[in-house]
Amino acid sequence: MRLVLLGPPGSGKGTQAARLKEYLQVPHISTGDLLRAEVAAGSPLGMQAKEVMARGDLVSDEILLGMLESRFSRADTANGFILDGYPRNQAQADALGVLLQKMGKPMDYAVQLEVPTELLVERIAGRAAAEGRADDTPESVRTRLKVYDSQTAPVIDYYRQHGQLTVVNGVGSLDEVFSRLVEALSPAKEVG
Ligand code: AMP
Repeated sequence: MRLVLLGPPGSGKGTQAARLKEYLQVPHISTGDLLRAEVAAGSPLGMQAKEVMARGDLVSDEILLGMLESRFSRADTANGFILDGYPRNQAQADALGVLLQKMGKPMDYAVQLEVPTELLVERIAGRAAAEGRADDTPESVRTRLKVYDSQTAPVIDYYRQHGQLTVVNGVGSLDEVFSRLVEALSPAKEVG
């Protein structure tokens, strides 16, 4: 199954994707994780991305598309993937559509995890304490939420207009949200 998980920072995409990956037996592709690995490795791409990420802004579409193409070329994506953190703007949504079409592998689902803003701020604060991510500072969080509203939220409308959007309530325990996701995806899982 080819699945895109959409939702603001702190909506639980990463946590749920890690579980869904076991359930669906497809890899979890987090563009944030891919970028953080480049930063940690000190690669030229990582060095370019580091400041932008720390600020909470978006890394260039070109870098992201190159990274994604190379990730999709790996054999483990043959049966699908869970994409987390991409697309983040309209240009990326278009690029993803073209890329998947080129591969002859259209997307099955775009799932939006819906969580109210007050809860997001609370969750990110909890994560900042637990993980110490460089971009979980109050200023960066504000920027990321703003970027989400202005650039990423319109992508949700795009998938809705294309009849591809499934909305899942992201409020509740990990287990509760996971059950809702499984339920939302079950027709697709049955048909493979
Ligand atoms: P995430 O782990 O998905 O919250 O991503 C962390 C940071 O990585 C974001 O705030 C961006 O700076 C960068 N990033 C991740 N995915 C993308 C993307 N699709 N486009 C641009 N920047 C991205």
